[in-house]
Amino acid sequence: MFSKFFEWYEKRHDYARDWLTKNDGEVVGCFCSYAPEELIYAAGHLPVRMLGSHEPQDVTEPHIFGMYCPFCRDVLAQGLKGRFNYMKGIMLAQSCLHLRQSFTSWRNHVPVDYAYYLYMPNKVQTDHARSYLAGELAKFRRSLEEWTGREITDEALREAAEVYNESRRLAHEVYDLRKGPNPALTGLEAMVMVASSFMVDKKEHNAELKRILPELKERRLDRETGARLMIVGSEDDDTEFIRMVESVGATVVTDDHCTGSRYFWNSVEFTNGDILSDIANRYVDRPTCPTKDFETRSRFPHILQLAKDFNVDGVLLIQQKFCDPHECDMPPLKEYLNENGFPTLFLEFDVTVPLGPMRIRVEAFLEMVGEEELF
Ligand code: SF4
Repeated sequence: MFSKFFEWYEKRHDYARDWLTKNDGEVVGCFCSYAPEELIYAAGHLPVRMLGSHEPQDVTEPHIFGMYCPFCRDVLAQGLKGRFNYMKGIMLAQSCLHLRQSFTSWRNHVPVDYAYYLYMPNKVQTDHARSYLAGELAKFRRSLEEWTGREITDEALREAAEVYNESRRLAHEVYDLRKGPNPALTGLEAMVMVASSFMVDKKEHNAELKRILPELKERRLDRETGARLMIVGSEDDDTEFIRMVESVGATVVTDDHCTGSRYFWNSVEFTNGDILSDIANRYVDRPTCPTKDFETRSRFPHILQLAKDFNVDGVLLIQQKFCDPHECDMPPLKEYLNENGFPTLFLEFDVTVPLGPMRIRVEAFLEMVGEEELF
């Protein structure tokens, strides 16, 4: 049922090249889930987020510190190796310093026609964030218009936001089917469904979701659910890891990370006012990355509510090695979840993860979850 999503995910470069032959636009690489893709889409381009290849590499050492997160290095490595040589534009909405270095090195060392750095405020909790970001989006809009010489109308922005909102609503519908005692899909399928939405024209992705949803609602998986787990943390599209977890007596039923629910959780709320302000509000109000979660820690109650809504038995706290934002968040988050009755297992990710040792740790965790003990 999810074969199209797996195909898109696995053949992402084929999809993008094919898209270019059929459309009068460019592929624009986005470095973070804070990228306001609606603007790129409204300009007639295909926004694509660069995700991990999960292959060991040795090309980033001259460009980026070895103690920057493996995800940023993996992304940059693919650029340096020419995997995205069809991509004419890149953009970063500021999130963390690690990813910013990937963007800067890509801009300097990988041939692209267009590179845009968007000053996405980190302090989203200030009163000024909304108007500030709306102003930055206006600059980004002008920059895109200058690049291709095409006007981006308010109407095109509204249409793009509607397409993106539909994608978000459909993803919610799919996630809702994981709340009951027998989830209609595995965590692996959900991961690939969301990850592929970063790579495919949202209209096409929406059409496929609408096609499978009626059947998905009736689906009964031929497997035991086992322990119901949640994944929380840094970027995670490691399909081998989740496949392993779901092979040892568990099902991942929800998540909070930037390649999962954080990407689609909230929508653009339309007012009759300025469409750029509506889009800016969406990015200010979305479930935050730890880089932007201060002074109030808004992430924690949101994560707790997800754990309750999806009836989670335990939480896997996933951190990309050296990811400072998540590393600072993990100890208080672990304490918070434990105090609220959710056992946690902390795991550190690299470009590839040692599945054998991790399997042993996950199995031990599942035994403890089964005994309803807390760490
Ligand atoms: S995993 Fe952490 S360090 Fe890496 S890009 Fe994401 S927030 Fe930045």
